[in-house]
Amino acid sequence: MQLVDIGANLTHAAFRDDLDAVLARARQAGVETVIVTGTTVEESRQASTLGLPFTAGVHPHHAKDFKQETVDALRELARDARCVAIGECGLDFNRNYSPHPDQERCFVAQLELGLSIGKPLFLHSRDAHPRFAQILKSHGVKRAVAHCFTEEREELRAYLDLDLYVGITGWICDERRGKHLLELVREIPRNRLLLETDAPYLTPRDLKPQPKARRNEPALLPHILKAVARALGRPADDVAAETAHNAKELFSLHESGSSAAAQRPLAA
Ligand SMILES: [Zn+2]
Repeated sequence: MQLVDIGANLTHAAFRDDLDAVLARARQAGVETVIVTGTTVEESRQASTLGLPFTAGVHPHHAKDFKQETVDALRELARDARCVAIGECGLDFNRNYSPHPDQERCFVAQLELGLSIGKPLFLHSRDAHPRFAQILKSHGVKRAVAHCFTEEREELRAYLDLDLYVGITGWICDERRGKHLLELVREIPRNRLLLETDAPYLTPRDLKPQPKARRNEPALLPHILKAVARALGRPADDVAAETAHNAKELFSLHESGSSAAAQRPLAA
């Protein structure tokens, strides 16, 4: 099994003390590649130092601090061959940590950057339908993943109409909030499905025992894979191979310096 975790927040303080052990466990669990999510310029810069593929972007929570210099800094980070996408970027009308006009400005600037340099987009959306899809459509965004999809059918259809990839997390293992995903995941075409932990967040709720401090980590991706495979009624190995292939396609992991062979050896 050679899984790809398309989204792990490995620059989070939760991983400060034992990142090497976390990556070794991931490798042992069959997670071949981990893509580190960038959520601010600073976090993206830190992500770029880990020797792993990473994304460079500003999360909508931080949109109020977004300036022209921010775009320049992201463009600079994106020159790194290991930078596989721009993001995470998008709209979050759930928490509303930044005003909506700031969020849209920050989002559009990153869409335009991704389109202009030919990198795919790592997208975040919460409670922002249909505005989010409208913006993607009007900019002609094609290569992108709607990361951590948790929403309803209508929104999923809008993303699939735009030919987006869809990232599924351990949310699908949550018997309270994620039940609808067991149905919806069947509507995602095989060549558009991606898997992610969003570690250290979204620890699968049905995992027993729960990890220490309930910290999620890439080694738990096979647990999410199995939940998805069960929902699809398909062999986990097939879903693993397809989703890994999809990740390699979208993020061009087989070319450039971000290939598995070129990245930091996970098992030190
Ligand atoms: Zn997100």
